[in-house]
Parts: sequence; structure tokens; C-alpha cells
Amino acid sequence: MSTGIKNLVQTLDSVDFLKMDRRTFMKAVGFLGASTFLSSFQTEIVNALEFAETKIVWLHGSESTGCSESLLNAGNPDIIQALTKLNVNLAYHETLLAQQGIFVDGKLANTSELNSEILLEDLIKEGKYILVIEGSIPNGPKGSGRYLVLGNKTFKDIIGEAAKNAAVIVAVGACACWGGITSANSAIVQDTDYRGVGFLKTDAAKGILNELNIDKPVINIPGCPPHPDWILLTIGAIILGKIRVPDDLTVILDKYNRPKVFYPPDHVVHDNCPRRGYYDQGLFDDQAGGSNCLWKMGCKAPYAHGDCAIRKWNGSVSVCTQAGPCIACVEPGFPDSSRPLYVEAENKGILLGENVGTIAKVAIGAAAVAAGVHAVRRMKGE
Ligand code: SF4
Ligand code: SF4
Repeated sequence: MSTGIKNLVQTLDSVDFLKMDRRTFMKAVGFLGASTFLSSFQTEIVNALEFAETKIVWLHGSESTGCSESLLNAGNPDIIQALTKLNVNLAYHETLLAQQGIFVDGKLANTSELNSEILLEDLIKEGKYILVIEGSIPNGPKGSGRYLVLGNKTFKDIIGEAAKNAAVIVAVGACACWGGITSANSAIVQDTDYRGVGFLKTDAAKGILNELNIDKPVINIPGCPPHPDWILLTIGAIILGKIRVPDDLTVILDKYNRPKVFYPPDHVVHDNCPRRGYYDQGLFDDQAGGSNCLWKMGCKAPYAHGDCAIRKWNGSVSVCTQAGPCIACVEPGFPDSSRPLYVEAENKGILLGENVGTIAKVAIGAAAVAAGVHAVRRMKGE
């Protein structure tokens, strides 16, 4: 744990964390990893929960299941430890369910213990669950949603039913947030018409809930996939009542419904990249395998609002730019907003609604100035 985080934890230890205002709490959550969060506030969490159980209904639309895999890769705490400490009942998750299907051992399975369709119907009737949606929702063909049918229902209809009775809705991953890879420009995209839960790319009017006339806010945890901390800490904050829907969500979320603590409006991955020193010296790689800055290989980190380079991945040991260019997977409209992925942003014209040509010239200009400063320092022997 870094000294800064240790100090923060010590400060937080001395205050009644449950009485913290939401802004301070969320700031703390933003600094901490899921493990530190759970261990530092274990007693308070237990007291707050009073052994009440929170149900999660986790639905999968059109996707790769990479977001669930990211969550399952959380090592410290692992998913079992985290759910146990937060007293979460992961009541429905198609990848992890033990249910068997319509027939079990040749006999009709018509109970919620064995048939996941019945289980989901029962859970939706009971209500009061956190609804997590992973994957996009096909609206095609022609608004029918029939490109994804589960059992005897379209996924679009299932989302409609589940969303109506949910206490809170969380979209996990780029596909669920704004369509992601499934809605990327292609010859068939008009026909398949994939939507995110609350958005299509940057358009909130085209989210599937709007299509279904359901007016409920959605907390977006984008990424391809998202960091497990972003998912666990958001769910933890919801359970502890520190994110209340729809109360003051505008304070906690940005205009694309991302929690600002993980996707800071005033911070980009580039700010803390391990290669940043090379960028500042104007040293750029143009092929894989080097150690210089990857800007000229298409790195989009200067436009990626995420704490990836501070929080780091894989048990807090590395970040994407150590392996290759960042593709700004946390940004609305990904992947089209970052395409072509491995082409220098300067050549793209408009990226993420900003004039990259201008920004790039400023960035390269700044790098050139920095390189000049370094050169002067080297000459002076500093
Ligand atoms: S590799 Fe990307 S994030 Fe790292 S310094 Fe270069 S442009 Fe910035
Ligand atoms: S570093 Fe870039 S590509 Fe990697 S998770 Fe963060 S935003 Fe996505």
C-alpha cells in the first residue's frame, strides 16, 4: 500500500465512515482497491448490513462474457470473499448458475431450483435487487429484439421486465453501457441495431430503456472489460447506501453516467503512464517491443478518462500501456470512438468529439518543449 493510501486509510479509520457525506466517501472509495476497502471498513460494513442480504440479478446480453471473467479474475479479494463480506446473494448469473435447464435427468424441471427461467421470473416478481447487465441488447430486426431470444422471450423484453422491478441498475462493460463492439459500424449494424442499456454510443435517447419507455437511471461501468475494482466498489457503495438512486447522481456520476471516482473528468490514463517520461522527451516507438511512448502507434490514453495507470490491473502490478497502446476502452462510443485503433490519433481528425489535430499538435509541441528542456539539462550536465 502506498504511503498516500496508508495515510488516507488512517484518516478514514479515525472518522465514522458511515456518517461521511457521499462525496467524501466516494473519494475514499476511488483511492482504495476492493481489498483495502473491505478490510479497512470490515466492522462498519458488518454493522451497516446488519446481516441483511442484497440480491443481485446479473443478466448477459450479446457479449463475450469478458466482464464477468474480469470480475472472476479479481484476486484480492476474490469474488467469493467480496460477495461474502458484502453479504451479497448473487441470485442469478447465467455463467455461474447451478440450474440445469428445462429437463434434468429426463424429467421436466419446473422449479426455480432447477430451471433458470422460473428462477428469473420469481426473482423479478420479488423485486428489490441490484440489476447488473453485461452485454448489449439487440433491437433488431425491425425493433423486434428477436436476434437474441432466451427461452421463449427476447432479451429486450427480459430487460424491460427486470429493469421495472430493480432497485438499482448497473451496466457493466462497453457493450452494456453503449453498445460496444456489437454496435460498431459495419454493413449489418442497422439491421442488428444493438443498444446499450442507457445509451447508444453517446446518445441517451437511443438506450434500450428509452426504447422501452422505462425512465430509470443507469450507473455505467464501462471498459472492455472494466476493472474488477470498479465493479466491486460501485456495488459496495450501492449496498452501503452511499450511492442512492436517483438522489444526487449528478454529483457522483459524469454526463455519461460513469462514477467520477474511477473515470475522473480531469484525469486521463496518459497522466500516470509508466512511459510518460519518454513522451515528455519526445521519444516515440513506431513498432512493437520498444520501451518508448506509444503515441505514434495509436495510443489513445490522452483521451481515456480512467484511473487505470494509478489503480493498475492484474493485482495492481501493470497497466495496458506497458504492453501496447491504450485503446480508450472506457470512453463512450468505444470502439468506434477509438478506431482505427493503432493509428496515431493526430491522423484521425476528430476523436471523441475533440479536434485531435489541434490537441496532438499541442501535445507534440509540449513534448518538443520538454525534449528541449531535457536537452538543455543534459548539456548543462544536470
Ligand atoms: S504510451 Fe500512451 S499513455 Fe503512455 S505516455 Fe505515451 S501516449 Fe501517453
Ligand atoms: S488503459 Fe486504456 S485500454 Fe487499458 S483499461 Fe484503461 S482505458 Fe482501457
